Order: sequence, then C-alpha cells, then structure tokens
Amino acid sequence: MRARKARDQQRLDAGQVSSPKELENLQSEIASLERRQRVLEDAELEIMERIEQAQREAETLAAERDAIGRKAQEVQEARDAAWAAIDAETESLRAERAAIAAEIPAELMSLYEKIRAERDGIGAAALSQRRCEGCRLQLDAAELNHIRGLAPDVVVRHEECRRILVRTAESGV
Ligand SMILES: [Zn+2]
Repeated sequence: MRARKARDQQRLDAGQVSSPKELENLQSEIASLERRQRVLEDAELEIMERIEQAQREAETLAAERDAIGRKAQEVQEARDAAWAAIDAETESLRAERAAIAAEIPAELMSLYEKIRAERDGIGAAALSQRRCEGCRLQLDAAELNHIRGLAPDVVVRHEECRRILVRTAESGV
C-alpha cells in the first residue's frame, strides 16, 4: 500500500499526468491511501500496546511461578527434615524398647506380644487413678482390693480388656 502511494506520488511529482481527470483520480487515490494508512497505523499501535501488556503479564506470571517454585522447594526441604527427625526418633525408640524387652522374662514378653496383637497394639497399660489406661475403664472396688493383695512381682491383668496392668505410685491401690 505504501509502495502504491509512493508510485502514485512519484507519477504526480514527475508531471507524468497531464489530463485533469486523471490528476484528480490520482490525488483522490493518494488521499484514500493516506486515510487507509492512518487506520492501519492506529491498529498497529494498538497491537503493539497489547503485545507490551502481554509481555508484562508474562513477566509477572513468570515471577509468580518462580516464587511458587521456591516455596515448594522450602516445603519439600521442611518435609524431608521432618521425616529425618521422625526416622531418628523411631530408631532411638526401637533401641530403647529392645533394651527394655531384653530384661523382661521371655514368658511375660510373649504374653505381652500376644495381647498386644489382639488389642490394638496395646499389650500393657498403666493402672492410673484406679483406671486402666488401655481401655479407659474404672476398676471396681473388688478388683482393686484383689490387686492390693497381690505381691509386687505378680503379673496383673485387667478383667475387662485382659491387658497387663502396670502398677505405679499413682495407681490408687
Ligand atoms: Zn483395661
């Protein structure tokens, strides 16, 4: 379009057009081409503005993506650290348990493991304030009296849940 306008202008400037009618047509075409050019230039400007805006949005989104990536990295590191701490604690508790288990008579240990398998992983429970901490039931007076009469090394079991009851200073017997 620009080339056509330039060609028309050139013809006009060179005085190649002699007839007034042709001259008028040519000038009219040049004017029309100029109007069309302005419209296209406005459209081009608008498109360029939209491209710039899209680029700014892309930059904002890229920054957000990077920030989320960094946050995800931090969360993963915190999770890994928590896992490592849990693993270390588990290992330490296993060792502690093994040391305690080694000092318990084999027969009592196997009784404990049997009850533990049957009773939600709790084979022995403290008798605390006259209550079995395994099933959370209060022991009645007769049962407490019976326990009071037993020697300290006798293995006591709760009549209700059959778990081994561990007597302590806070047992209430
Ligand atoms: Zn119980």
